Amino acid sequence: MNAMTSGSVAGRGPGVQLVYDFADGDRGMVDLLGGKGANLAEMTRLGLPVPPGFTVTTEACQHYLLRGEEPQPLRLQVTMALRRLENLLGRRLGDVQDPLLVSVRSGAKFSMPGMMETVLNVGLNDYSVKGLADAVGDERFAWDSYRRLIQMFGRTVLDISSELFESALESAKVRAGADTDVELPAAVLRELVDEFKGIVLEQTGRQFPQDPREQLDLAMRAVFASWNTDRARLYRRRERIRNDLGTAVNVCAMVFGNLGDSSGTGVCFTRDPATGRPGLYGDYLVNAQGEDVVAGIRNTLSLEDFAHLNAAAHTELTRIARRLETHYRDLCDIEFTVERGKLWMLQTRVGKRTAAAAFRIATQLVDEKVITNDEALTRVSGQQLAQLMFPQFDADAPRTRLTLAMGASPGAAVGKVVFDSATATAWAARGEDVLLCRRETNPDDLAGMIAAAGVLTTRGGKTSHAAVVARGMGRTCVCGAEEIDIDAQARKLRVGDVVVAEGDVLSIDGSTGEVFAGRIPVVPSPVATYLERGLDVALESADAETADLVGSVDQLLRHADRTRLLGVRANADTAEDAARARHLGAEGIGLCRTEHMFLGDRRVLVERLILADTPASRDAALAELLPLQRADFTTLLREMDGLPTTIRLLDPPLHEFLPDRTELAVEVALARAAGEVDPAREVLLTAVERLHESNPMLGLRGVRLALMVPGLFAMQAQAVAEAAAARLQDGGRPLVEIMVPLVGSVMELHLIRDEIDGVITDVADRTGADLSIPIGTMIELPRAALTAHRIAEVAEFFSFGTNDLTQTTWGFSRDDVEAALFATYLDKGVFTVSPFESLDRDGVGTLVRMAVTAGREAKPDLKVGVCGEHGGDPDSVHFFHEIGLDYVSCSPFRVPVARLEAGRAALIAETGAGAS
Ligand code: PEP
Ligand code: MG
Repeated sequence: MNAMTSGSVAGRGPGVQLVYDFADGDRGMVDLLGGKGANLAEMTRLGLPVPPGFTVTTEACQHYLLRGEEPQPLRLQVTMALRRLENLLGRRLGDVQDPLLVSVRSGAKFSMPGMMETVLNVGLNDYSVKGLADAVGDERFAWDSYRRLIQMFGRTVLDISSELFESALESAKVRAGADTDVELPAAVLRELVDEFKGIVLEQTGRQFPQDPREQLDLAMRAVFASWNTDRARLYRRRERIRNDLGTAVNVCAMVFGNLGDSSGTGVCFTRDPATGRPGLYGDYLVNAQGEDVVAGIRNTLSLEDFAHLNAAAHTELTRIARRLETHYRDLCDIEFTVERGKLWMLQTRVGKRTAAAAFRIATQLVDEKVITNDEALTRVSGQQLAQLMFPQFDADAPRTRLTLAMGASPGAAVGKVVFDSATATAWAARGEDVLLCRRETNPDDLAGMIAAAGVLTTRGGKTSHAAVVARGMGRTCVCGAEEIDIDAQARKLRVGDVVVAEGDVLSIDGSTGEVFAGRIPVVPSPVATYLERGLDVALESADAETADLVGSVDQLLRHADRTRLLGVRANADTAEDAARARHLGAEGIGLCRTEHMFLGDRRVLVERLILADTPASRDAALAELLPLQRADFTTLLREMDGLPTTIRLLDPPLHEFLPDRTELAVEVALARAAGEVDPAREVLLTAVERLHESNPMLGLRGVRLALMVPGLFAMQAQAVAEAAAARLQDGGRPLVEIMVPLVGSVMELHLIRDEIDGVITDVADRTGADLSIPIGTMIELPRAALTAHRIAEVAEFFSFGTNDLTQTTWGFSRDDVEAALFATYLDKGVFTVSPFESLDRDGVGTLVRMAVTAGREAKPDLKVGVCGEHGGDPDSVHFFHEIGLDYVSCSPFRVPVARLEAGRAALIAETGAGAS
């Protein structure tokens, strides 16, 4: 949807509904109500204890973001919704006697943890604070709630530095001799409110707004505006969330977790989101409100402790968790509050989880008959599988454990310790691995968390900001390491007697929560071992949880193989890579680049070819290359016996095989100056000068080169044909295919085919081998795509070279432009991901689609694949499935990812389930 058109509320007339009561929505309305709003509505519909409230739609936000003002009907609709809420509860917003207070929270379609704003206790002012004190019979609580409102409102709505409030709070604690804010008495809190109001006046030039409705309107506006903070934009860029979606705003009657020891607030997951272990998992904070758990400011209690404190509420929570999991048929995360013993549900959603948890939970739910194998496959992703293939710490390596904390996001991270986000970003930019060590993280640390190899915090549980965000981005994280004392000022941390300064190396294990001194070597992960060496080897030394994980991966990958329609091949040039690709499940080689066969010792032969000044000397040079190439192909075809192997004839410009032009020019000039002219080097320099190109990527390469250097492709084709004949003679089953690069015109392919066909026939006649070698072409120039119907007449197959096709469609030099331009383009939203990484469906994809259709119209049995980098990119794999390619080909390491995604693509395209 384009925000410029359908996002404009004005364009849809005055009757458009911008506000929905929780009781009027459901989880299907996530586009309009955001994730939080839709799920609050769903829980309300299920009859769960949700405090009443209403949601302002994402459409209203889109309008605000576009026009800089709220849509005109919003004010009245909020008034009506507020009236309904007040009538339901029998209390008025900000009433002087028994005030209704509300929370105002953002909630976009896709969860963006901690990225946007929340204001609690809206409706409190100098009068209603007394009403609240009387109503709940707790003066301290009322003043504490009021100071929290001013603090959150000041920071979020009025843009006042939070430091000012924090330091006033700290001084108040010192004055009162209190360790925590819970110990502050009412009188001190009242003074603090005055002080906070003073800060507001001083910083903004106006009084803290006393009108409850004005507070509400300003808070809602701040939530809208928070969609566009730097950190929210950065998060969306990373998560590939569109910028025009906007956020909904949820206005909810307050319930209080900070009404003494029978109250509290917590976050829980229906299973462990880090490991996937079954059973309720979470944190609880006694006498605390709202964000305290997520912020990780205070260390929390476990749910077992919560059960001891309030058995009834814990039982109810367990029952509701089970209900939600059955209803959503997935892991849910839950925010809840207990107000004087009574449980309230504040939020639920399908919870984020680590890659390992995703696989384990998906297959557990199949075992529990909650979902099918098909559904389970849509619940995991290629990206998660790739994460599980990362190495882990070597179990046999010696180590010194400094402390044991919580493993919040798995992986093995080793890096230099840094204490702030800016240093993490700066050091990482110069190529260093860093560990970001913080007391707790907040959303401003996002850039540092992205840059770091791992994150270590000393406060907060598995549901703290650091944990949630790190898990979301697949970053290793250990949190709540209480034994570590960080002195960010002095740039060091202390654990017992050990002092670690900034720049010293630590190793953290995000699965076990261990923190080690120094660098520990890493080894392949069990999932990588399984993929490369099979299930039995992987299970040999696995503990129960690891075995369970490997079993889950195996189950889902095998299901993907059964389900997918796309073939998966690998790009491999050597027998070694080919063997690895086969183990990883490749069903053939989709691209064997032959250029490496012209490097190393063979350079001299290429030099001779280039310098040949007569047909005879050229043929002599080619004749020397021939047996070497034949041996290359014979080994490769032995490794890939019985599987299709596509050999691409030479592509890069010849000067890539010659010495560097500047270095050679300097060498020759120095020799001349010394009177020691070397005629051979002089000739070479002339050739290098002659072959020099300003735009080599658009120059004499691929088929063009073959037409300029007669015999080159014929020699390669002969080597292929003779290798195939030799394999046949040895009883093998070579299924080799020859591919011509950089074709733009059917005539180019014609000319080359004539030459190659002749060579293959000669070899067949000579050897008596029954050679059937399909000849196809890469489609990697827009002109090739546009004339695919003609090219197909001469080709047995197409393979899309989407690297070059992206380069030439956009006019982007693939070697230069990513570093120079892409950060700015990503920032300005020209694209959300590099088109070299994930296929640009609208542009390059349109050419691919057209060429497939035209090619198959001309030749119905035309085989069509892709061998650009996009062949291993999850999102692109879905596109290639949609347009009916026969196979994708990618680097060996990405083969399992492509297999999984191809299976998912078949299911998702069929059922429309899930997202890619
Ligand atoms: C391509 O262009 O997509 C391709 C596979 O060829 P290369 O990357 O070798 O140019
Ligand atoms: Mg190419």
